[in-house]
Amino acid sequence: MVVCKCRKATKLYCFVHKVPVCGECICFPEHQICVVRTYSEWVIDGEYDWPPKCCQCQAVLEEESGSETTRLGCLHVIHTSCLVSHIKSFPPHTAPAGYVCPLCSTTIWPPKNVKDSGSRLHSLLKEAIMLTGLEKNLFGNHPVSLAVAESRGPPPAFASDPIVNVNASSSPSKDGINITEGYTAPSTVSEIMEIDGPSPAGNFIKSSSPVVRVL
Ligand SMILES: [Zn+2]
Ligand SMILES: [Zn+2]
Ligand SMILES: [Zn+2]
Ligand SMILES: [Zn+2]
Repeated sequence: MVVCKCRKATKLYCFVHKVPVCGECICFPEHQICVVRTYSEWVIDGEYDWPPKCCQCQAVLEEESGSETTRLGCLHVIHTSCLVSHIKSFPPHTAPAGYVCPLCSTTIWPPKNVKDSGSRLHSLLKEAIMLTGLEKNLFGNHPVSLAVAESRGPPPAFASDPIVNVNASSSPSKDGINITEGYTAPSTVSEIMEIDGPSPAGNFIKSSSPVVRVL
């Protein structure tokens, strides 16, 4: 493990800039078409081919290509349009693990070398895969949407925090303030119930979709 500029631990290393990169920073424009492999590979042999080529059509990649290229989880770079046509070239009943990198045959989803599923590499690769309209085939049973992961988290937090407070305030009340506590506790609970239904779902759809687009 090495430490990326942004202080995340990573095992990936940009052979061109000779710096560690994480699943986030690997997507910065400066590394867009860089040769990136694991740090342990670099230690053994830092040689690499330059200029880099699209792992599908073998055309030389241009530095200014920007979003026209996509980094696969095997760390190969592919034209986004080549990725789309590559994915579409698989038979329709291909299993998720059957969609592989054209060069090294590593399964495209989930990205093999980046474990942090919230990384920019994940978002960009996901976006590129969604251009094919075949995302269901590729994603299979792997949880993909950030929104799904997030919406599972907050509702229990919303639900449990106020209940803990109510319990905490109502149990000492047995000593004397029974009536006051009796009035406040149920009203708090009913407010929570009302808020709980519509708001978390709405919030999470609103807050998570721009995140996905921005990334
Ligand atoms: Zn980083
Ligand atoms: Zn680089
Ligand atoms: Zn290409
Ligand atoms: Zn590959």
